[in-house]
Amino acid sequence: MPAHAPPEIKYTKLFIDNEWVDAESGKTFETVSPIDGKVITRVAEGDKADIEKAVAAARRAFHRKSEWRQLTASARGRLLHRFADLIERDREYLSTLETIDNGIVYAMSRFMIERVTSTVRFAAGLADKVHGDTIPSDFEGFTYTLRQPVGVCGLILPWNAPMSMFVSKVATALAAGCTMVVKPAEQTPLTALALAALLAEAGVPRGVVNVVNGYGSTAGAALTHHPHVAKVSFTGSLEVGKIIQQAAGASNLKRVTLELGGKSPLVICDDADLNFAVPYAAEGVFSLQGQVCVAASRLFVQSKIYDEFVKRAVEYAKKRKVGNPFSEGIQNGPQVDEEMMNKVLGYIEKGKAEGAKLLTGGQRIGTTGYYLEPAVFADVTDDMTIAKEEIFGPVQSIMKFETLDEVIDRANDTNYGLAAGIFTTNVQTALQFSNLVEAGTVWVNNYFTMEPRIPFGGFKDSGLGREHGLEGILQYLEIKTVNIALPKLT
Ligand code: NAD
Repeated sequence: MPAHAPPEIKYTKLFIDNEWVDAESGKTFETVSPIDGKVITRVAEGDKADIEKAVAAARRAFHRKSEWRQLTASARGRLLHRFADLIERDREYLSTLETIDNGIVYAMSRFMIERVTSTVRFAAGLADKVHGDTIPSDFEGFTYTLRQPVGVCGLILPWNAPMSMFVSKVATALAAGCTMVVKPAEQTPLTALALAALLAEAGVPRGVVNVVNGYGSTAGAALTHHPHVAKVSFTGSLEVGKIIQQAAGASNLKRVTLELGGKSPLVICDDADLNFAVPYAAEGVFSLQGQVCVAASRLFVQSKIYDEFVKRAVEYAKKRKVGNPFSEGIQNGPQVDEEMMNKVLGYIEKGKAEGAKLLTGGQRIGTTGYYLEPAVFADVTDDMTIAKEEIFGPVQSIMKFETLDEVIDRANDTNYGLAAGIFTTNVQTALQFSNLVEAGTVWVNNYFTMEPRIPFGGFKDSGLGREHGLEGILQYLEIKTVNIALPKLT
């Protein structure tokens, strides 16, 4: 299918027990394309009753005698490889659907799908490589550990990278042997359904993966409060992350993994090569329209190069092409919806009102779709709202610093701790910063490097637990210790 043709919408219902069903209430909600503000389709709106059905199906599928539980770990791996093959087969369709629903630039969507398949293949490879230990103990006998799937998982997704989020959680939970109910974001319900269909085609048994679209306060809350859900993995805002942690505590003390927001510092030292630093810093905050949890949204530039850097940053931002995400050469598409666009515009107004210097951009483009000009603010200070709150839009905020010691304290002066970056040619500076900055990921002379085999997650209010890497699958496993008495032979 040509990338620009409207994709056929094949799935709009809930996916429960490997069947496509309407919501119990019969309700549906519309999903709107941010490209033109038009309704793409209506999808079934699940709520508590549908979550009950889906959790019951996932629970049956987790029974010790179920088809799923009888599969070996290597068979789970083969199943995941079949899933990856199907994603590769349908890559154009899936990328097109993702762009229509989310507004992500099509070329980026195609790039991301390679990441999506490599995430699934990494999980496939991991399935039969997770094992326990034997432990020398003082007790007369033999002690070993088993790593066993935690049970039914509730996987709650954000809208900013729907397919990546789906596979990061679903493929890892499947590799671990869990069953699950997925609640996609209400802004982007479509690709999760298409991926569910591929999982069924790959041979995932009934009830193992269920997808229930709906709103957070209804379907999402029902999942996080459910007594038969053993674990919730959530990616989204800090505000909702706190609600989820409370729901886990108030219900069955379910295990919780949280991947939340950020206000990530990127530091440009005066010995950095600006030919690299300027584009990296810009891509770090403008890619995906700035709707990235690790966005380089606090840019600290050392005083000696500050003026030159700001000049080049403005030139770079002005050249950025914003428009229909299917058009050739476009670098930024629309914000995900009108509400997010207005939120970002509100932050830009606040930045101006609080005395930051807006040097370029910051306006809405046209009146159809939700497009924004990339904005560059200079002379930003740490106390300004745009330096403190997650904007989730194409807004670069540039601040000046003098010494490494000073900038480390300023970089850490935030409740978030997701990512950080530094551009310098001095190895000591790079190591000192990497050791002392409070962030789950540190990038030196690059930004955004992420891979399925690299653990990812946040310090402080940016989250709890890790996704990807070996650490990722451990979050879906319980450790069981077995002691076997083995009296000495006399
Ligand atoms: P959000 O918190 O508004 O929503 C995320 C999901 O939670 C949605 O599916 C929503 O329906 C659901 N939800 C809302 N209220 C709920 C409730 N009471 N109970 C259960 N579920 C509920 O976040 P968003 O706007 O979709 O995503 C943007 C946020 O996600 C940003 O803060 C961003 O930084 C963060 N994010 C973090 C990462 C990461 O890996 N750290 C990655 C992407 C996005």
